[in-house]
Amino acid sequence: MSVTLLARTAQGWGRVEGERLVMLSGDPLRGDLREIGEEVPLASAALLPPATPTKMVAIARNYRAHAAELGNAVPEDPLFFHKPLTTLTAPGGAVPIPPGVGRVEHEGELALVIGKTARRVSRAAALDHVLGYTCANDVTARELQKRLGHFSQAKGYDGFCPLGPYLAIGLDPSDLRITLVRNGSRVQDGRTSEMVHDVPALISYLSHCLTLEPGDVVLTGTPKGVGPLEAGDTVEITIERIGTLTHRVA
Ligand code: ZN
Repeated sequence: MSVTLLARTAQGWGRVEGERLVMLSGDPLRGDLREIGEEVPLASAALLPPATPTKMVAIARNYRAHAAELGNAVPEDPLFFHKPLTTLTAPGGAVPIPPGVGRVEHEGELALVIGKTARRVSRAAALDHVLGYTCANDVTARELQKRLGHFSQAKGYDGFCPLGPYLAIGLDPSDLRITLVRNGSRVQDGRTSEMVHDVPALISYLSHCLTLEPGDVVLTGTPKGVGPLEAGDTVEITIERIGTLTHRVA
């Protein structure tokens, strides 16, 4: 399967071609992308998160080994929560650590972007509703999450969702390696084939709870190896065939 990598900038979308970004008019959600005859060096392009969601939903405890490392059981049905849009951090950006929240942790994850409205879709039809895939960090104030007993605040601080760098179109999400490197050390290393509920199951389940709109983002859960983030850190989340999302911690 051939995979196309798209990136979003303030000037519009572009297609990644080696070290260059071929600039486009239009929007992938409308399917009207056209080359405009301009290219920019990829290294100098200021990238935005490669999605314009109306909401972002994230799945908890979707990898057995990660659920076990935090002493949690694997839920029978997908367990989900919402990430506010104000959690978005652009590729290369910095996640602010709020004062007084205790230990903050990284969760490297495969994220999907919805391409067409999904309401009560079957598992078989689920992938037809996906536009593409990207990398995410579901940053979590872990001590606060445990103390409060819910996810909204601990995972909802401003900037707690770095997303990007590219949107991979035409990708099979069923078995991709996902790694997270913190300050040069690889601390998470898993495969999407280890998900308890796979991508079609997640979309089908969610779409029976709420309508997934074009552009909406779903974070699919993190493999084992979550750990602390501290000011000054550099984080790199790499997913096979998508690329590497790099961000800092402020
Ligand atoms: Zn997560």
